[in-house]
Amino acid sequence: MLCEFLDSIFPRSCVVCGAALIPKEEDCCLQCLSSIPRTDFLKVVDNELERLFWGKVEVESGSAFAHFSKSAGIRSLVHELKYRGNKRIGRRIGRMMAAPLQRHWPKPDLILPLPLHPKKQKKRGFNQAEILAEGISKELDSALNTELLIRTVANETQTNKSAEERVENVEGIFQVTQSSALENKTVLLIDDVITTGATMASCVSELNKVAGTKVYVAAVAFASQ
Ligand SMILES: [Zn+2]
Repeated sequence: MLCEFLDSIFPRSCVVCGAALIPKEEDCCLQCLSSIPRTDFLKVVDNELERLFWGKVEVESGSAFAHFSKSAGIRSLVHELKYRGNKRIGRRIGRMMAAPLQRHWPKPDLILPLPLHPKKQKKRGFNQAEILAEGISKELDSALNTELLIRTVANETQTNKSAEERVENVEGIFQVTQSSALENKTVLLIDDVITTGATMASCVSELNKVAGTKVYVAAVAFASQ
């Protein structure tokens, strides 16, 4: 009742289509949520995302919740989190990502968001991958850790670089701070959007150096090239 009353005074609208939200909806209407093009990566062995890591690093499995390029909806949701600081929507996407992961993958010992360089995080105010990981951590009941893996090099934006240049640009930019805490652990690495996978691969290569670590990779969206 109160919600309906508040909605009548402060109308809330869907961040994707702009339609007025009904009381049980938050940020995004149910129609837009249900029209997000999900990937079938969790059911496909050697899926497109996993292939990005072949010959580079060892990943147990990799998945993305949705296809980025085919959907205005998922682009708006990621944008809302990343550039408009809507953390509520980020945690919600995280919870949505978690449900299928729970059905297909073993429960991780640790959930690690892809780290931002401290300077960049200070500028943005938060790490979007960490917000997503918060939602996932809550749903999977696995610990979230932001200290064991850090980013030590802040590199320039990669938009104008070719895939090959990007690989060179991201090598050695991450560091494991305490190997013993990661030994023999099943780790779930989280990022928002995976395109070439180069940054993620750089991160995984650090984890691969730790004895017995099993790495799973999950993103909100996969932007195939
Ligand atoms: Zn909508």
